[in-house]
Parts: sequence; structure tokens; C-alpha cells
Amino acid sequence: MLKIVWLYWKSMNIYGDYGNILALEKQLKIHGLKYQIIRYDIGDKFPKDADIVIGGGGQDSSQNKIQDDLMAIAPKLIELAKKGVPMLMICGMYQLFGNYFETSNGEKIKGLNILEGVKTVAGDERLIGNIVVKDDRFGDVVGYENHSGQTYLSGKVKPFGKVKNGCGNNMTGSSEGAIYKNIIGTYLHGPILPKNPNVTDYLIKAALDNKYGTYDFIELNNDIELNANKHMVELLKKSIK
Ligand code: GLN
Repeated sequence: MLKIVWLYWKSMNIYGDYGNILALEKQLKIHGLKYQIIRYDIGDKFPKDADIVIGGGGQDSSQNKIQDDLMAIAPKLIELAKKGVPMLMICGMYQLFGNYFETSNGEKIKGLNILEGVKTVAGDERLIGNIVVKDDRFGDVVGYENHSGQTYLSGKVKPFGKVKNGCGNNMTGSSEGAIYKNIIGTYLHGPILPKNPNVTDYLIKAALDNKYGTYDFIELNNDIELNANKHMVELLKKSIK
């Protein structure tokens, strides 16, 4: 049984991030794997163990709202991260898996620093639009970004990918997101998992390997999803300069 913790499912869940849970459920069902979705929000009891942790985006005010609770569960999340539990953190939660997010009021919202040294500072302009990120492992990853935060990586983490179309971590560089152990932090709403089956499979495979040692994961035929992904990459090539 794979336990999936859906972190701050009420407080941090915008631009269709719920689709990530739906995509995971769908793939797990097709694989015939048993799973349980554990919804976690402020004040809830944090589950004893977890095999996958998923977190979404949110407004600055929501990031502020979850701050104390996030610090309270920090030791548990850090322990899971150390154990190699795969996690996917989108936008607002990505920022809070880093060191801090400094809002436009100059207020610093402290992060978990699991993505060590990753810092985010709100800019004057929002970075909004469709985005394509290239990564050796995942190929072309498509999504949608909408954030004021400009994120800067440290040498301790690797970027999730390289931006082909769109902005990514910040307006000046070409990196997008961050990856450390099995933890992916990314600005890609979209939602990312239904649009990118390679990322969905990666999370499931990593969870199985982590829990059972090496697990004989049979790749599904993802042709329909991959064709949709390809189509979006082509469309964006034409529409974004
Ligand atoms: N509040 C953050 C920002 O604008 C995160 C936004 C989001 O999660 N989409 O940078």
C-alpha cells in the first residue's frame, strides 16, 4: 500500500494542482497498485509514514498562513526527505521547501531548507504563461507558471530542467525548479503530472524502489499523454518568441 500525503490540500492548491493527485491515482489504479491518499492541512495529525508527498501552489497569504504549521511538521518532512521519499512541490510549496520566500512587503517566510540554500524573492513583475522545460531524464516537460517569486539556486541542488519557453526560476537565468534526492520543486502548474507521464512514473517508481528495494515497475503505454505533450511543445514553439 502506497501512502500519498497531500500536503496542505486546502491551503495550497491552485491552478489545478489537484490534477496531480488525480493523475497519480489514475496511474496507480492502472498498475493495480493499492494506495491511500492522506489529506493533510493546518493542525491535522501528520501521518507516521509516507511513500509520496505532494504539495501545491498558493498565494503569499496562504504561504504565511501555513508558516507555523509547516515549521511544526518540519522534522517529519526532513526525515522523510532524508529517507529518499519522492516529493513533488509546486510553486508556493517549492519556494517553502527552499530557505525562504521574501514577499513584496519585505517579509521573509521561512522555508524548510530541504532544497538547501534555495532562495526566493518577490519581483515587481509576475512571471505568467505556458512553459516548456527540458530535462535529460524527463524529456520536454510542459506546464503553466504564475509567480512573483524569483528563485535562485545554491550549489547544493540541481535544477529540475532548462527552460525552452517561458521563465522558470527567474527572469535572468534559464534554470527551472530544483531537484534533490527524489524531491522535485518546480514552478510548473498545469497541472504537471497529467501533462507529463514521465514525471508521474518517476514518482511512482521512486516510491516503490524506496519502499520495497528494487521493484519491477512495468512501464505503461503512455503514447496518448506523450502525444498531447508533444503537441503542446510544438504549439508553444510557435506561440512564444
Ligand atoms: N505566492 C508565490 C508567488 O507568487 C507563489 C505563487 C504560486 O504558488 N503560484 O511567487
